[in-house]
Amino acid sequence: MEEEITEVAEEAVPEKAEAGEEKKVSEGTKVSARPEESQIQDEEIFVLPGDFVGTTEEFAPGPGTYLSSGEIYSTATGKVSVDRKARVVSVVPTTSVPPVIKEGDIVVGAIVNVRESMALVELAAIKGAGEREMQKYGAAAIHVSNVKNAYVKDISREFALFDIVKARVINTQNMRLTTSDDSLGVMKAVCSNCKAVLVKENNNLKCPSCGRKETRKMSSDYGTGIV
Ligand code: ZN
Repeated sequence: MEEEITEVAEEAVPEKAEAGEEKKVSEGTKVSARPEESQIQDEEIFVLPGDFVGTTEEFAPGPGTYLSSGEIYSTATGKVSVDRKARVVSVVPTTSVPPVIKEGDIVVGAIVNVRESMALVELAAIKGAGEREMQKYGAAAIHVSNVKNAYVKDISREFALFDIVKARVINTQNMRLTTSDDSLGVMKAVCSNCKAVLVKENNNLKCPSCGRKETRKMSSDYGTGIV
């Protein structure tokens, strides 16, 4: 019976919509009225899981959709995307998922703890991840052996609380980072005495406010604001 309705003349849009509305899909989601074809192609249509997004006569089901009785429904909350050339309809989820951290990624974060053998970093961004930066990625660690290409006797001379560091991911199993490249290390540090931002002076850091000198494993980009 539904097949017959589908084959009725194109003008019968209201009837089609009713047929669509009656239909129940998984999780009891009510299917909304069918958008007209022109809407699908020219406007951004926001859909919920179970919403009708097209028919197999018009499109092939793409990512974020599923097929049921020759009709295509959304599996996601997001926007309908139509590839007219390939005649594929898909749904691009709007709920953003943090990008997965991979080995070799350059990450930026803040030092939240300095222990005897490692510094802990609260990750804030993956370089190149665009607008998805500044989400929470969790914590990672820089082991004393991965601070720089030289023996580190005292890690507290290399990192301090609140430092902003740039590091490379070397192990995603236990989230280990390295700062041994010249471009990696501390990007910004504050005076442990008065909290003023330390400025680079020769190979060390100096507080412009109280004159205190501190050491860090600095990135060659220290103080440039370039991450
Ligand atoms: Zn100071």
